[in-house]
Amino acid sequence: MKRYINKTFNLLLIIQCLFLNISVFGQEVDYFSNNALGNPIVGHAGEYYKGVTYVTYQGEKEDPYVAAYNHKTKKWTGPYKAGTSLLGKKPGKIDNHGKPTLVVDGEGYIHIVFGGHGGSPEMGKNPLGNYNCGKQIHVVSKRPMDISSWEVVDNLTPFATYSQFIKMDNGDIYLFFRHGAHRSNWVYQVSKDNCKTFSPLKSIVKAKPTAPTKICNDVYDSWYLDFHKGNNNDIMVAYNYHVCQNMRPHTSERHNCYYMKLDTEKDEWYNVEGEALEMPVTKEYADKKTIVINTGEKWGHIGRATVNSEGHPHVYWYDGEPNHSNHGGPKKITNYHWTGKKWSGNDTNLPVEGRGDLRMGDHPSMYYLLGYNEGESSKVAWWNSKNAGKSFSKGEALIEGKGPTFKLSNFIRNAHPDARIIATQKIEGTDYSKVFLLGDQGPIKRLKKEADILINN
Ligand code: ZN
Repeated sequence: MKRYINKTFNLLLIIQCLFLNISVFGQEVDYFSNNALGNPIVGHAGEYYKGVTYVTYQGEKEDPYVAAYNHKTKKWTGPYKAGTSLLGKKPGKIDNHGKPTLVVDGEGYIHIVFGGHGGSPEMGKNPLGNYNCGKQIHVVSKRPMDISSWEVVDNLTPFATYSQFIKMDNGDIYLFFRHGAHRSNWVYQVSKDNCKTFSPLKSIVKAKPTAPTKICNDVYDSWYLDFHKGNNNDIMVAYNYHVCQNMRPHTSERHNCYYMKLDTEKDEWYNVEGEALEMPVTKEYADKKTIVINTGEKWGHIGRATVNSEGHPHVYWYDGEPNHSNHGGPKKITNYHWTGKKWSGNDTNLPVEGRGDLRMGDHPSMYYLLGYNEGESSKVAWWNSKNAGKSFSKGEALIEGKGPTFKLSNFIRNAHPDARIIATQKIEGTDYSKVFLLGDQGPIKRLKKEADILINN
């Protein structure tokens, strides 16, 4: 009898273990990977193409990683390492400037550009700016719609920071970047043959020496630009001005909001009044022709320019108090739109330090998707306005949890409603983040054993 009870007990134990194992192996999590490093995503980091969403982020050792989600089979693939950056190979501070940007070309090949933080003098002379480190690198998938193997394409300058792809409706692919470190022009080039070749570089804004300030003699006009596909052939640009003072610590003092657009059909730049601009734009010319608002003493970060349903531009940026010891005080979103005659706008009741992207509804409706913290809770939620951004009310949350603030990409290109945006959240006590793909149904889940690439986190 005793033996029988023991046997039954052992059998139950085995069944219980099996069940536990199955439930561990079958457990699903909200994230699809956990090896993103530092501040891991750039704006244009994802695209939906023929049933699959492709995403890229900065992973271990600052190398670019790519994952894909098939919406039909509901299967994840990757992440795969797509290339090797010069950045992130020494222990210490994470550079964070060479985050990868992604585009799918007309034949289904996936392109990633990454790794630039200005380049260095041993790579030759930088004709359009100064140096720092890293190298802009272009890789392409060896097969269409297959992220498992990659090769380097040597057809770009090494001197670049903040590389960003924009794809037009006709398949033309634009690449924008700053041609070096802080004291460099921002430039663009276009490929009309699926990134096999690119047109010669053209400068957009000019970096140049300027008058001394109260605290520094060696001062340059410098810039930060954000690029967004508008209607038809337009690429819209929101930008601000960085007073680049050669001193330590180097402050991130940035002012004003400027707007202009590129008509890609004509390859001409225009201000909001439709006046063709002489390129590249200098500080003096920008103040005269393209300024939206002079923000005075305030320090800002660039937001984005988009177009409302009436065809007029709408711009937003992040505005805060100056703080010479770091990146400035906490920032709030400020909105302006062009009425047809003038810029009109205000600061908002959106969450302080909330960051994200903006979708325009029928004017005057608009919707921000923001990552922010509210008390103990961190979330990604919609904020809706029916009055062109004068006031907002909180809408649905796509994800809600505890811990550090979710950081967001731009809206994914050609997005599927189930996969609108990439989000990352830092794993506390580490330099790594979990990566999420969020849409109208919340996060796209994945088996824990597949998502946990770094097991020790
Ligand atoms: Zn600077």
